[in-house]
Amino acid sequence: MIHELTMIDAQDFPKIPGITNYGSHNDMPEPFKEITPDEFWHYFGIYGTGRFDEFKQVKFDDGQANMYRNIHILWYQSCGMAIMSPVHWRCRRPDDGEGYQIIYEDQPRFFRLGCDHDYFEYDREYANEHGLPYTSGRCYHNTVCTKCGHVGSYDSSD
Ligand SMILES: [Zn+2]
Repeated sequence: MIHELTMIDAQDFPKIPGITNYGSHNDMPEPFKEITPDEFWHYFGIYGTGRFDEFKQVKFDDGQANMYRNIHILWYQSCGMAIMSPVHWRCRRPDDGEGYQIIYEDQPRFFRLGCDHDYFEYDREYANEHGLPYTSGRCYHNTVCTKCGHVGSYDSSD
């Protein structure tokens, strides 16, 4: 796989539902919520690598160490997912004495960025009442978030 670094203008970046502050290079976007590795992999399995990737070094105070942490953000249409690199690591000489190994002493952490959506499925009548888009189809589902109003749709193919 080839990755190409492409600079985009800030105005070309999509507005992610629920993000109230993207922050500077040293700020975690807000709001954010720590999620479990299982939750992260569930979303990653559904959404993949995201439309835009972003790297930041955020000042993060978790009560243990107020220091800069590397994060990689996968930006999707409806949220962001951040992976925070482990902070504590050391080098050691492997048992065979060749070279060095990096040993991480803590685990990566995962965060969901933006609205913690609470979607409900609506029908044509609800769409007309509320001015929402509606796509009909046998397996088509139209959804709206009760918190931020993000409208989505998906084809369940069932
Ligand atoms: Zn929402």
